[in-house]
Amino acid sequence: MFARSVRLPSLRRSGHLPVYNIGRPGAEKYRSFLNIFRNPKPKSEPLPALSDNDLFHPFSKSPFPEVRARGEAIQSLALCSVCTSHPKHAGELPSRVKFECPDCGWPSHCSEEHWQVDKEHKKYCSRLREVNEDEHDLRRGRKMREFQLPGPQAYEEAISFANWDLFWYTRGFPSMDTERSRRHASKLLTYPLTIGSVLHQNSGLTLNNRRVTLEGSRSLAALRTTLHVPPGAPDTEEAGAAKPQIRVFILGARAESSLPPHVWEQLCMLFPSCHFHLFFIGPQVSLPKPADEAVARNAKSSASGTAEQRGECNESHSLYVPNIYVPPTPKPIARLKRTRSSIQLYGFPSYTIPYTPQLTITGIQANYAEVHQHFAETFDPYADVFFLFSPGFGFPSMRSMSQLDGTPLLQIASPTEWGPVVPVLLTSRCSIIVTGFSPADIERDVRSLEIAPNVAGEFEWVINPGINVFGSEKWEVADFDPRVMVKANWGLWAIRGKGRQIRKGDQ
Ligand SMILES: [Zn+2]
Ligand SMILES: [Zn+2]
Repeated sequence: MFARSVRLPSLRRSGHLPVYNIGRPGAEKYRSFLNIFRNPKPKSEPLPALSDNDLFHPFSKSPFPEVRARGEAIQSLALCSVCTSHPKHAGELPSRVKFECPDCGWPSHCSEEHWQVDKEHKKYCSRLREVNEDEHDLRRGRKMREFQLPGPQAYEEAISFANWDLFWYTRGFPSMDTERSRRHASKLLTYPLTIGSVLHQNSGLTLNNRRVTLEGSRSLAALRTTLHVPPGAPDTEEAGAAKPQIRVFILGARAESSLPPHVWEQLCMLFPSCHFHLFFIGPQVSLPKPADEAVARNAKSSASGTAEQRGECNESHSLYVPNIYVPPTPKPIARLKRTRSSIQLYGFPSYTIPYTPQLTITGIQANYAEVHQHFAETFDPYADVFFLFSPGFGFPSMRSMSQLDGTPLLQIASPTEWGPVVPVLLTSRCSIIVTGFSPADIERDVRSLEIAPNVAGEFEWVINPGINVFGSEKWEVADFDPRVMVKANWGLWAIRGKGRQIRKGDQ
């Protein structure tokens, strides 16, 4: 299915993270995410408050315009599966989906007749219904307790990274009483927790369970000398005064670059003595909205609004951007008081925000290869690490073709995607941690390593491929074919470049 494989990359990080209200740092233990999905015109169109047992609505009958808009997008993109597999007449084009399944509410077939004869739809229907209800739950204006994030960890209280439940419990999150809450919270936290759970000394990925290789355990131990304090010493903010900054380079960033900084702060709270600098680098990194727009909006909201509202993102003009072909760049993020442009430094649209003493965030909207020169001589395997969330190494490039036969190059070998990037990451000797959205996705990416020039034979394993217990538990559904469903950061693996030994601590 060539068509599907070309289209799938768009879904892998479709940027469809909810537009979280960006609360400003406060003294309270929990920060509220009230007003997520605020209606842009609350006064003229009050949101209907749906009750717990009124979460299911066919897309076209949804009280929320974004859900109706998504239904329309699917109707214009997806083909009826019955028509596709049993064309009535040779040469006849399959019809698009128009009929909404009464059980899941998604546009699923061209007609009721085809819905009735399709025995396959049952396989997807209950998951689709779950997503339908989740989408309505997120928008109905209830207080989202699962988005209340705890403050700093007391240093004597150990955090468990065994699974989401033990993590939430040991970190003091509100209890996640329902599967729906788990899905919402895991989707919000999967990016910072995937990073934190790999790097932390309590990581569930170990030599003993064979997820980490011997070489990998050395690389991770090197990083942990900077991430943690010596055994017995209190792991506190004060203990970090003399430590180097940990730099986390998140390449090809998209949805993760639009997460509010205080969600990323949850990563810092796992390492109290650590100073993090997160770099989001990629052509689709979310940038702050223009300064003049932010000033005008702040002036407006300060007259009537709260501090919380002043940090909130503007709604996009389009209600829904389908997750097809080239997925949308996330909406602009909020411009905070200390956000400043970094374009002079990097030569590309970019920003830096010193968010707290423990957390600085830089976003650069460029392919990493274009800014590598700024970092090339500075990498240190004790303090720097790369994360690539579903990079799609094994997917065909949308832009670069083979000169031999004109077929698309795989993205890992493509000059316009990862071709020039992965080899220079390998020369840094820093760990490169990669996620994928399904077993097949992971396998496709890993196989692509074996044929990529300057990658094949140049790396060694740090973490063997396998499941990521801090993946999102929410299904992401493809608009071009709602039978295609994936989970963000389902699995992960890691490599590093071969070559010279790590300079210290490596016997
Ligand atoms: Zn049909
Ligand atoms: Zn259904």
